[in-house]
Amino acid sequence: MALSILINGSRGRMGQAVAGAAREMGLAVGAQTDLGDDISAGLAKCDVVVDFSAHTATRAMLVAAVALGKPVVLGTTGHAVAEKKELLALAAKVPCVWAGNFSVGVNLLFALTRRASAVLGSDYDAEVVEMHHRFKKDAPSGTAARLLEIILEERKLDRNALRHGREGITGERTPTEVGIHALRGGDVVGDHTVIFAALGERLELTHKASDRGIFARGALRAAQWVVKQKPGVYDMQDVLGLA
Ligand code: NAD
Repeated sequence: MALSILINGSRGRMGQAVAGAAREMGLAVGAQTDLGDDISAGLAKCDVVVDFSAHTATRAMLVAAVALGKPVVLGTTGHAVAEKKELLALAAKVPCVWAGNFSVGVNLLFALTRRASAVLGSDYDAEVVEMHHRFKKDAPSGTAARLLEIILEERKLDRNALRHGREGITGERTPTEVGIHALRGGDVVGDHTVIFAALGERLELTHKASDRGIFARGALRAAQWVVKQKPGVYDMQDVLGLA
């Protein structure tokens, strides 16, 4: 029997893309919820929830999924660091794929960024640039946040190393800082570039998304995978076997 999905955030750009991808992939949309709807009633008749909504909606969605023992695919971004820590503990009570980006290409970009950070070392200044459509409500993007985490992990730096944009008399760039720059405009679905710049050469790793269908199809691939897993929080890297 086809997997039955609850789409939370169903009236949004991603919610609609997920509904379209489900039709293409032959999956059933058992329920659709958005702001003001009762998620528990819909979820009771579905196998898994796919959530692209708002960060303020994540707690209630996870509480409902845990109460009903339903697996979760969570794509919503914009959680504060402390908030995310608490939500992760809740998410771990059910099988949950939580990813800032469900595209296969971006997940390969994560792996390439890890490799480049390790090989190039701190002599190569690392900066991340992202661009998204004018309607995006959070910055930096969840994908940029993950790219930064990877660079910080490989370079054994903490979050104090992050420089969000630069303005005024900043002084010279220090070797231990990692820059992040968020551009907004038009209908850009999602561009991410990681730059490693040394004296004499520069490596740039770029991914450009041109259709939200890539995230929707990836999220549904994660939904098919997560229903077979034990409780715990997984990443798209686990779904794709890149971990
Ligand atoms: P959007 O603003 O078009 O849609 C969000 C929808 O969520 C709206 O319909 C809104 O009414 C609804 N919503 C708000 N509060 C809610 C609540 N409490 N309960 C249920 N629904 C609620 O946004 P979008 O472009 O579709 O993006 C949604 C989220 O997904 C954002 O956080 C975005 O960054 C993220 N996103 C993630 C990926 C990924 O691959 N992980 C890809 C694209 C977007």
